[in-house]
Amino acid sequence: MPESDGGREPLAWRLRAIVGEDNVLEMEPMSEHTTFEVGGPADLYVIPEDFDEVRDVLRACDEAGARRFVLGRGSDLLVSDEGYRGVVVAVADGLTGVSVDGEEMTCQAGVDLREASEMACELGLTGLEFACGIPGSVGGACFMNAGAYGGCVADVLKCVRVVMPDGDIETIDAADLDLGYRRSRVASEGLVVLAATFALRRGDPEKIRATMDDLMRQREEKQPLDLPSAGSTFKRPEGYFAGKLIMDAGLQGYQHGGAAVSKKHAGFVVNVGGATAADVHAVIEHVQDEVERQFGVRLEPEVRFLE
Ligand SMILES: Cc1cc2nc3c(=O)[nH]c(=O)nc-3n(C[C@H](O)[C@H](O)[C@H](O)COP(=O)(O)OP(=O)(O)OC[C@H]3O[C@@H](n4cnc5c(N)ncnc54)[C@H](O)[C@@H]3O)c2cc1C
Repeated sequence: MPESDGGREPLAWRLRAIVGEDNVLEMEPMSEHTTFEVGGPADLYVIPEDFDEVRDVLRACDEAGARRFVLGRGSDLLVSDEGYRGVVVAVADGLTGVSVDGEEMTCQAGVDLREASEMACELGLTGLEFACGIPGSVGGACFMNAGAYGGCVADVLKCVRVVMPDGDIETIDAADLDLGYRRSRVASEGLVVLAATFALRRGDPEKIRATMDDLMRQREEKQPLDLPSAGSTFKRPEGYFAGKLIMDAGLQGYQHGGAAVSKKHAGFVVNVGGATAADVHAVIEHVQDEVERQFGVRLEPEVRFLE
């Protein structure tokens, strides 16, 4: 997309024709759409409200040669201070339907994982307890194979409805998604998740609730939930725990500008007030260099970068 608004206007018109006038925002600050509360403006921020609109928006962007990025709830994302020169397709804002058929729950991609977990509990369905404290969308969770406390998406996912790279809408079985630790075909092949079906089991609602309460208590005890962050900043390196390595390197509390290694949980980089993306990058790089220097392990970010 050209620097001036040269390339933006015709595409913006086309996108408005697909999703409606009110669902195309210009120069939208990404700090309002990420849990880090960091990030400059996106040229265009588009909110499709059904599957066909998602497909048509993606197609319009591709045909215009515009860069595009599929956004969930922005809970695993660091957007640069300059923002994004392209189209943010805000799938999570518009696709929020849920349907239940026996023990199967189908959630559109934008459903908040915590709400999906809560709904399953209310219905007496077990399997999604692990997700009760993960502030991402169902689409983002499939992308990352999100997981916590011994459970992950792969354990309960039956299938996903996706837009394929060629623009077709297809259903793919979970077994064919190559789900692994923070890994999936959604990520490696650029599939866009429209909905996910979870195969749950009947359970005792009181036991389900007790498990969720216990997991939330553990999170509140250990994680800096009072400060903006994107959760665990680094992936778990083989044979180690990122948080322990960072703590042992003496980096807990290390601060650069408005970003710091959390004093409560060294695995989290937090926004202690007014952090820029450059601050967060500086903390991440310092942690990587120092941990590598002291222990010979290069930590790999789990957080995705959008520039
Ligand atoms: C306080 C806190 C605690 C957290 N705890 C955990 C945890 O316990 N376990 C865990 O795994 N994660 C955790 N996270 C990280 C995050 O919530 C998850 O990784 C979540 O799955 C990201 O979903 P999202 O919708 O926010 O994705 P985003 O941050 O919006 O996007 C992340 C990636 O997913 C892609 N994506 C999003 N939606 C779609 C879609 N519909 N189709 C295709 N691609 C898509 C994006 O393009 C991007 O590359 C935590 C985050 C926070 C802030």
